[in-house]
Amino acid sequence: MSQQFGAFTASELYCPKCKRSQPVREKLLLILPSGELYEFLCTGCGTSLGERTVSGPPLSAAIPKPQKAAKNPPTRRLLR
Ligand SMILES: [Zn+2]
Repeated sequence: MSQQFGAFTASELYCPKCKRSQPVREKLLLILPSGELYEFLCTGCGTSLGERTVSGPPLSAAIPKPQKAAKNPPTRRLLR
């Protein structure tokens, strides 16, 4: 019962340049509507070792809602 795929985070990946497993650091590449795209960089040489998309509720600031101008409130006539 190992469900590791969902929460998998790579802390080490094999780096072809260093020819060994290297700790990686995540670098935020893009903010997509569906999530955030991270890139794994080798801490030894900086080579990109992979990418990961973190899906989740994006920052509310990332998707500004188109704000329609509020309808003018019905003009009130002054009835006296
Ligand atoms: Zn490396």
